[in-house]
Amino acid sequence: MPKTLIVFSAASGAGKTTLMNRVMPNFPNIVYSVSATTRKPRAGEIDGVHYFFKTEEEFKGMIAKNELVEWNKVHGNYYGTPKFFVEQKLAEGRDVAFDLDVFGKINFDNVYPDAIGILILPPSLEELEARLRLRKTETEETLSLRMENAKKEMDFALTKGKYQYVIYNGDLESAAAELEGIMEKILLSLA
Ligand code: 5GP
Repeated sequence: MPKTLIVFSAASGAGKTTLMNRVMPNFPNIVYSVSATTRKPRAGEIDGVHYFFKTEEEFKGMIAKNELVEWNKVHGNYYGTPKFFVEQKLAEGRDVAFDLDVFGKINFDNVYPDAIGILILPPSLEELEARLRLRKTETEETLSLRMENAKKEMDFALTKGKYQYVIYNGDLESAAAELEGIMEKILLSLA
């Protein structure tokens, strides 16, 4: 049975985490790729579970040794997909899901062109800004950086991203039903 790689991307504040937390427990056989990052751990994040937390020097060493499928600098920190993790999971016969920024996804496609892309977008930029403000995790400076990046990401993703599926996450219930339907379709078509 062919194994599938599913790439999720979103603009920050598109509600990806809530949506995925809601839907993905229904697909327990899919394993999540653990990325390497130079971002500092947030409360509750565990090294090797949520991310492999690296210093900038360590991360650059991984790039130099060609240990990453793809990498990118997102909001000032490096993020990348370690090769060993994907290769190990594929060898175990697992379906693997990835959380990549829209630019990293293009590089990922060069290595795994058959991966299926699902893009999660907010219903509008105004709604995105409102959500980010509500979250209260941003300063005015990081908020405007995130908004600027979100605009670039959305334009780029919709024109060059080659995502097979785009979900506009306005209403959580309908977005969850849509994602669930997409996941079933993907897994059925490969079964
Ligand atoms: P966060 O710091 O909020 O966990 O993630 C920030 C951004 O980094 C998100 O847009 C997420 O999709 C992206 N990201 C996480 N892991 C990777 C990775 O391995 N490669 C790339 N290109 N982006 C990643």
